[in-house]
Amino acid sequence: MDIHEYQAKELLSRFGVIVPQGSLAYSPEQAGYRARELGGDRWIVKAQVHAGGRGKAGGVRLCDSDQEIIAASESMFGRKLVTHQTGSEGKGIYRVYVEAAVPFEREIYLGFVLDRSSQRVMIVASSEGGMEIEEISAKKPDSIVRSTVEPAVGFREFQAREIAFALDIPAALTQQMVRTLQGCYRAFRDLDATMVEINPLVITSDNRILALDAKMTFDDNALFRHPQIAELRDKSQEDPRESRAADRGLNYIGLVGNIGCIVNGAGLAMATMDTIKLAGGEPANFLDIGGGATPERVAKAFRLVLSDGNVRAVLVNIFAGINRCDWVAEGVVKALTANPVGVPVVVRLAGTNVEEGLRILENSGLPIIGATSLMDAAEQAVAAWKNDQARDPEEETS
Ligand code: ADP
Ligand code: MG
Repeated sequence: MDIHEYQAKELLSRFGVIVPQGSLAYSPEQAGYRARELGGDRWIVKAQVHAGGRGKAGGVRLCDSDQEIIAASESMFGRKLVTHQTGSEGKGIYRVYVEAAVPFEREIYLGFVLDRSSQRVMIVASSEGGMEIEEISAKKPDSIVRSTVEPAVGFREFQAREIAFALDIPAALTQQMVRTLQGCYRAFRDLDATMVEINPLVITSDNRILALDAKMTFDDNALFRHPQIAELRDKSQEDPRESRAADRGLNYIGLVGNIGCIVNGAGLAMATMDTIKLAGGEPANFLDIGGGATPERVAKAFRLVLSDGNVRAVLVNIFAGINRCDWVAEGVVKALTANPVGVPVVVRLAGTNVEEGLRILENSGLPIIGATSLMDAAEQAVAAWKNDQARDPEEETS
């Protein structure tokens, strides 16, 4: 789960990371009011969306008066901000953060990530902050400093000092840099984050180390331990298809093609999508119903996959171990009887109770296309989608 910049700053500041003074607003008028409350004579208005690259996309604006703040906010609220991280559909702006503008000398990049190959928390830093890390690694790879944390001893102070030296932090600021690094690490560890990124971390003109931006991502599977963080979830920033699925306890990934996939297990989902591509199609989404899916759960999954208007054919691919083919079949029949769908449905079942499952499908009298293997299923789904496209070419462009 991602959170907003202002929320990440508030969390990190509890761990000793210093951030500029700022305040959140839900309307342009409130943004103006917030600036007067903060005081000072220069402010930054920042669109709060779950994506970086806002600066280059017009989502971060320097303002000299509250009128300018109101005008800048008016141009943001209700719009979709498209940055290189949002995809072409962008993310809606419903909150802006008004912050004191801070004059600075240097911008540093700082990231804490889970490095899967070393199975450790890795600190990635660079003296070339301000740019995105992808750009830094392309243009200034030598500036990148990496350091991993040995889990048995944790993040040691000498390690933090080493990073500060590698970044050429002035000696007088080493202690502050160490506190910032350790604060980020503690926040990462204690809050079950999977990513903490400060870009830029700056050295201000009056010699302080300040986080001007902050980003945090959390491990969804650990959110139950942090109800206050779970509350920070902002559904306006999520793919609505994915948040509807999450609310129903289903794993759903929205994609851009036309074949909806209902499968059990992430590995089978990957194989199913590969096979669809091999057969010349594109998956519209995939929904993992998990192990032990009841007919009700399958019916729910169906409704969700079909709520995506791009779906022109559905492929159900179940390899039942813990699952039962008869339950899945019952769910499919239930869903299609309650809500007849206008698209072809291809079903491939294998494993536990497969005979019973196939019998249920056959006896239902529903126009379900049976498949004998995964390749067969993918080919039939692609053929069904192509047929549909040939019948109704207009639909495709909508
Ligand atoms: P993003 O990474 O989404 O583009 P940032 O918060 O990093 O957004 O802001 C973009 C740039 O704007 C920063 O690299 C920094 O140069 C400048 N900036 C952001 N916040 C402040 C601030 N409070 N004072 C001065 N400059 C700022
Ligand atoms: Mg940034």
